[in-house]
Amino acid sequence: LTSSQTSPGLHVVHIAAEMAPLLILQVGGLGDVVAGLGKALQKKGHLVEIVIPKYDCMQYDLVRDLRALDVVLESYFDGRLFKSKVWVGTVEGLPVYFIEPLHPDRFFWRGQFYGERDDFKRFSFFSRAALELLLQSGKKPDIIHCHDWQTAFVAPLYWDLYAPKGLNSARICFTCHNFEYQGTAPASELGSCGLDVNQLNRPDRMQDNSSHDRINAVKGAVVFSNIVTTVSPTYAQEVRTAEGGHGLHSTLNFHSKKFIGILNGIDADAWNPATDAHLKVQYNANDLQGKAENKEDIRRNLGLSSADVRRPLVGCITRLVPQKGVHLIRHAIYRTLELGGQFVLLGSSPVHHIQALLYLSLEFEGIANHFENHDHIRLILKYDDSLSHSIFAASDMFIIPSIFEPCGLTQMIAMRYGSIPIVRKTGGLNDSVFDVDDDTIPVQFRNGYSFSSADERGVNGALERAFDLYTSKPDSWQQLVEKVMNMDFSWDSSASQYEELYSKSVARSRAAARTQ
Ligand code: ADP
Repeated sequence: LTSSQTSPGLHVVHIAAEMAPLLILQVGGLGDVVAGLGKALQKKGHLVEIVIPKYDCMQYDLVRDLRALDVVLESYFDGRLFKSKVWVGTVEGLPVYFIEPLHPDRFFWRGQFYGERDDFKRFSFFSRAALELLLQSGKKPDIIHCHDWQTAFVAPLYWDLYAPKGLNSARICFTCHNFEYQGTAPASELGSCGLDVNQLNRPDRMQDNSSHDRINAVKGAVVFSNIVTTVSPTYAQEVRTAEGGHGLHSTLNFHSKKFIGILNGIDADAWNPATDAHLKVQYNANDLQGKAENKEDIRRNLGLSSADVRRPLVGCITRLVPQKGVHLIRHAIYRTLELGGQFVLLGSSPVHHIQALLYLSLEFEGIANHFENHDHIRLILKYDDSLSHSIFAASDMFIIPSIFEPCGLTQMIAMRYGSIPIVRKTGGLNDSVFDVDDDTIPVQFRNGYSFSSADERGVNGALERAFDLYTSKPDSWQQLVEKVMNMDFSWDSSASQYEELYSKSVARSRAAARTQ
């Protein structure tokens, strides 16, 4: 196996279910965080390694020097040992280990990432195999960083089974990217990965707070990790309330000392209008003619009217799930039309077999068909990375009326491309978008439009104020566009916050070890 730490920085191992840009169909923000944070920490001189499952459906052409290691990993599951093959390669400069279970259930060989009946089993297997890999390779990481419910098992597994076996150099950091997904299952299922159900199915450990015969993986990670983070300060506050906590607020309040929200960054190289190969014309804040050409280009490609250059284009790029405020997105389409704008929606419906979502996608298909040849409205219902770049570049405004939003990346990407965000004040949107008309915010931070109430009036108020500035004060609008394009949403400052958390935690444990 490849070597361990030699540099003076920290040795950080991320164990995660995904990593950007390897998923053909990007399933969420988690993958971006693993890659973005990993690269930023590596740049600061730390050794960062990543362990993810070896899915059949990843983009392996993006992995450099991918090779199978000459070892067979054996890890415990369901009362016996199972073999896994381990691969290693480099993704955007980061060393990545891929675990390919040779289990007869072909855990990651299903043509998709999530949404399988046996997800709890697949990911608890993976969590244990990843720790086994660290143990057998003799690595001595300072931090093991796990993410979301899929690798939440790492925290209890580490302290209950792996620290006693000698993998005991690390502090455990757990990041929850969305508390809506907690990984619950009948308590007995926890035993498969070797954890002791009787010990853990207790209210102060892994027992689900509402179903006492169920185990909750995210709760387990909150209880057993040294550091618990989520992806924005406002979301960290929201999930500590009964309304926003998805049942975990009491647990998070109890463990509040180790719980903090850190706003994600965006990958400033991948999202850069000055170099973006997906765009018709590259541009920057000093050359907005290029942005106008991208708007013209998308209108032509999508068959929208180009008659009025100044007609504002509102963009929206999202998964079509209730969290994103779909009814408000629908309303914004009609209101934009009434206000004399154009609207382009790029929306994907990820999980078709959930009935409520099926209904939603049918509804949006209906709206898409209704506006099929319309001069000013276009709905494109699919996941399309390349088109998303063109829409960010082409749009003047970008709407995100989420009901809740742990962090949200699109508001930051939109700003980098000079598209002014119009957002509901929730989660990370509240930490990154500051209303142009809010006198309580220092002028230099004001960068968009926001509204509080999750209803049509809220959307109307913000949308109308944006249209008003765009049409009546074009110079002020242009200044705003230049200003938001120059704001820094890269990973640098978020990574510094993680670095500080990691270092403090490591220092505390070393100090404690010295006094023992
Ligand atoms: P979430 O993780 O909840 O989906 P984020 O705003 O954190 O929301 O991240 C969404 C990411 O996925 C962004 O980079 C966005 O551009 C991208 N995205 C969302 N929907 C689509 C789509 N239909 N086509 C292309 N990219 C999309």
